[in-house]
Amino acid sequence: MEKEKIVVAKFGGSSLADAEHFRKVKKIVESDPARRYVVPSAPGKRSREDEKVTDLLYQCSAEAHRGGDYVSVLNKIKKRYQEIIDELELDVSLEREFAVIEQAFLSDAGAQYAASRGEYLNGILLAAFLGYEFVDAAEVVRFDRNGVFEDERTNFFLNERLSRTERAVVPGFYGADDAGNIHTFSRGGSDVSGAIVARAVQAELYENWTDVSGFLLTDPTIVDHPKKINAMTYAELRELSYRGATVLHEEAVYPVRREGISIHIRNTNHPEENGTFIRRKIRPEEEVAITGIAGKKNFVAVSIEKNRMNAQIGFVKKMLEAFEENEIAFEHLPSGIDTISVILQKDEFERKKDSIMESLHRLLKPDHITVDPDLAMVTVVGKGMRSVSGIAARFFSSLGRADVNIKMIDMGSNEINCTIGVKNDDFDRAIRALYDELVE
Ligand code: ASP
Repeated sequence: MEKEKIVVAKFGGSSLADAEHFRKVKKIVESDPARRYVVPSAPGKRSREDEKVTDLLYQCSAEAHRGGDYVSVLNKIKKRYQEIIDELELDVSLEREFAVIEQAFLSDAGAQYAASRGEYLNGILLAAFLGYEFVDAAEVVRFDRNGVFEDERTNFFLNERLSRTERAVVPGFYGADDAGNIHTFSRGGSDVSGAIVARAVQAELYENWTDVSGFLLTDPTIVDHPKKINAMTYAELRELSYRGATVLHEEAVYPVRREGISIHIRNTNHPEENGTFIRRKIRPEEEVAITGIAGKKNFVAVSIEKNRMNAQIGFVKKMLEAFEENEIAFEHLPSGIDTISVILQKDEFERKKDSIMESLHRLLKPDHITVDPDLAMVTVVGKGMRSVSGIAARFFSSLGRADVNIKMIDMGSNEINCTIGVKNDDFDRAIRALYDELVE
């Protein structure tokens, strides 16, 4: 028998910011009966100047904690939900819920509990509006006492619970430990919740509905109207997200990747548009040489020089030990014969600078250590780079023409990415030059 198709649809905060968006969401959900499980965020911004309910909740709990005026913030939150209830004429009252929440604020239930209520309450409203069952994430999404997400136990509970539920709304962003204390993922974490629900029900597709029509090839604040990415692999998404492209939470890829469930990023306001597919393998007709260009500023390069470094066994090991001692992760490790550089995030380096220097001098007895501050990393990602010759030549000549000085090059060993280090000041220019040459 053919397996029944299940789609998990996660809707972001701007897609559920007010009654009008709730109506759009309902239309989308109802247009495909396979959309059996829905994961909502908390109401987001209705306009640029508006406030997200999650931010208001953090504010509210902080005010309550310091004995300040939390009531006026709480009233703003109540009003947001009441407007949705009234406009949609829902037969729901959140009065009792709010009484419990207020009590919890006063007994200092903590910021994670506070923040989670945004999704919790929105889930109750959405379930009522869709006529779906409400499944509280606190029952099925498991964290340990220290707030570390427990994926296997969660998968077990979710699978067990949802296999008995034909259609359900499971709020995103939070879960609970065995004692019932609420824990949240990091900000934007409803994407992660959507992915773990998709895994638990063995969905065919994980739809992630947001307010943009998919991933853009590069940052639109740097390049005017960049093209959209139609499809990419999980690995490419991972590279691009790590390098600064936002849309989807970084951690949302793992649960679906291991099961081979595709992700489809779509626009709630324009469901007719294609969005971006993220799959294990992209289809031949979707192949392009360059998938995306992303980057981040504010790195440093710590370069260590020592005569005859190449002949010393264990030099790199000792160097890495120096960073390990200081609990600092590195990004890249370009090396020459007698020099090796370590690229680190600048803020972390600044915080631990003296201690890192002490460790390096003690363990390595180097001839020189120099620090190059204010570096930016720019990465071009594309599985297609492997098969198109001449890309590297065009890559570097475009940067030369744009007068961008390249401080470091790292071609990933899987050949799906090439990263360069440039001065912070050259960052925008480098991205524009690469986009113009390799994409346009
Ligand atoms: N509401 C949470 C946040 O604003 C989680 C989410 O929207 O994914 O971060």
